[in-house]
Amino acid sequence: MTENESQFEVHDKEALAHARSIMNATESPRAWAQEVIAAVKRNEAWRGERCINLLAPEAPTSPMVRALLSSEIGTRAAEGHIGRVNRWFAGTQYIDEVEALCVELLKTAFRCNYADHRLMGSMLGNMTVYHALTQPGDVIMSAPQPFGGHSSNRYDGPAGTRGVKIVDVPFNMDELEVDLEAFAKLARQHKPKLVVMGMSMTLFPLPVREMSEIIAEWGGKFIFDGAHQAGLIAGGQFQDPLNEGAAVLTGSAGKTFSGPQSGMILWNDPLLTRPIADTIFPALAATHQVNRVAALAVSAAEMIEFGKFYMAQIVKNSKALAKALDERGIPVLGAHKGYSQSHQVIARVKQFGGGLEVAHRLAQANIITNKNLVPEDKPEDWDRPSGLRMGTIEATRLGMNEADMVTIAEFIARVLVKGEDPEIVGKDAMDFRLPKQTLYYNFDHEYPAWVKM
Ligand SMILES: *Cc1c(COP(=O)(O)O)cnc(C)c1O
Repeated sequence: MTENESQFEVHDKEALAHARSIMNATESPRAWAQEVIAAVKRNEAWRGERCINLLAPEAPTSPMVRALLSSEIGTRAAEGHIGRVNRWFAGTQYIDEVEALCVELLKTAFRCNYADHRLMGSMLGNMTVYHALTQPGDVIMSAPQPFGGHSSNRYDGPAGTRGVKIVDVPFNMDELEVDLEAFAKLARQHKPKLVVMGMSMTLFPLPVREMSEIIAEWGGKFIFDGAHQAGLIAGGQFQDPLNEGAAVLTGSAGKTFSGPQSGMILWNDPLLTRPIADTIFPALAATHQVNRVAALAVSAAEMIEFGKFYMAQIVKNSKALAKALDERGIPVLGAHKGYSQSHQVIARVKQFGGGLEVAHRLAQANIITNKNLVPEDKPEDWDRPSGLRMGTIEATRLGMNEADMVTIAEFIARVLVKGEDPEIVGKDAMDFRLPKQTLYYNFDHEYPAWVKM
């Protein structure tokens, strides 16, 4: 091994060297622990209080959910399915109560027959699907990344580790829509066992019913990877995949669903229960963080109570933000179709320097977004794509409405279109954000004052 190879790192070497230098400055483990806490506090003061967070996969959890994440129950081990005989350990009767409530609340929130609460991430929900429902060598179809697909369902993610062959679902270039005619042709040719639609870039509902009917001809199953849309689905503001022909719905608990970051899997057919549950335990989950399960249960209760209004406002806000950006000379996808039916806004920012550069310039202005591939990009453009993705989950939970979206669009246009100094815009963005610290749509703070119920 050469010296270079022996020092191979996937992480940024400077970041690791900086951590080392902090540790070298003192020999005290207590001081090291305090450095960790100080960095957490810096993040909280900036991202938690001063920034306008427009990251599409982020949601702030309610005070009740956050408190549960540090509860005593999170130190307990509870392997296995719920119940006295199913568990390996004794003393789990209260844990069983928490977990059973979580399962039943998830079933109610998603109006379905089965739910599992033990997935540490939606990636593992997708891994469950591939492990339970495919064999190595099977053919599946999924969405390519420039059209919004996610690594979960591609060769570099869980689909790839299962060894399936992947055929791309064809998309219509401008519309961000599945090209149904081309899909029907390609699907009939390849007869995929699964069609897995997981869209990280998501503006409009998918033709779940039409696609499911086509693949039903040979017994293929439609899987809706609703990582992003789970909250919108629970709140009845998007589409209802399990009622439109999808066999399984997977979802992230921490994106629109606004609960603790982790995964959920939901289905109706009792014949799927064995393969799914046997994959989750004992293949993918053992100690599954009961504190997180308790937090997930409460966020499901929040979704049942507030989901409809909360998610509807998220969609209204994304439409308002997209329109206001468009009017200020920042082109957005979906303009001719009412901009968005989800929490997301996708802008084309090549003319302003491209996604990477624009996202970092906006972060200097205390506005957090991410670079994103758009349909005209190639997968190789991954590091420097020409799109920018924004989402309205956090702004909405902080009580913001359509008028606030116009204000935010103006901050963004000052940086991108008018070329103002991001530091100066950042001061105004912070002044706008600082008074807004209350999280709504939960049992402590139900609705913002402007809502006339
Ligand atoms: C975010 C995302 C995932 C991964 O979800 P985690 O909860 O972060 O594990 C899977 N699929 C899609 C489409 C996503 O956008």
